[in-house]
Amino acid sequence: MHCPFCRHPDSRVVDSRTTDDGASIRRRRQCPDCGRRFTTVETASLMVIKRSGVTEPFSRSKVIVGVRKACQGRPVTEDALAQLGQRVEEAVRATGSAELSTHDVGLAILGPLQDLDLVAYLRFASVYRAFDSLEDFERAITELREQLPPTTPGGLDEDLGVPAPASAAD
Ligand SMILES: [Zn+2]
Repeated sequence: MHCPFCRHPDSRVVDSRTTDDGASIRRRRQCPDCGRRFTTVETASLMVIKRSGVTEPFSRSKVIVGVRKACQGRPVTEDALAQLGQRVEEAVRATGSAELSTHDVGLAILGPLQDLDLVAYLRFASVYRAFDSLEDFERAITELREQLPPTTPGGLDEDLGVPAPASAAD
């Protein structure tokens, strides 16, 4: 790894620690030439194959951008979006695959988004699952109503977008 400051072709690792979620390693490095320090982050390679066939690295921020669109006008904070991004990344990394399709990523978004905001979930699902009729929406809403605990009267209308606690389902 060359030095980002002086381009010296070598650097020395002075500290190395695993991040809290265990998904990456941060290394503190020092350049033996100019003496400056910098940090590198090492994660397992995770590639996403797009519908066009193009492959690109998995990007948590792209997930967040997509979900943010579905959350327009909804009481969803940036913090909650960041948490959702983290949950999605953890879920896709937990599959152990080095390559995913955009379909897999979308699938991993649906669960956390359903916990976050039901209206945003329906918007996202309508695109992801290519709803093309009112019946598709009705079916999705029926599914949601069946999943909601009976103690949540009103379901969709009552939902205030409060992030649910970390899922115990995994
Ligand atoms: Zn240097």
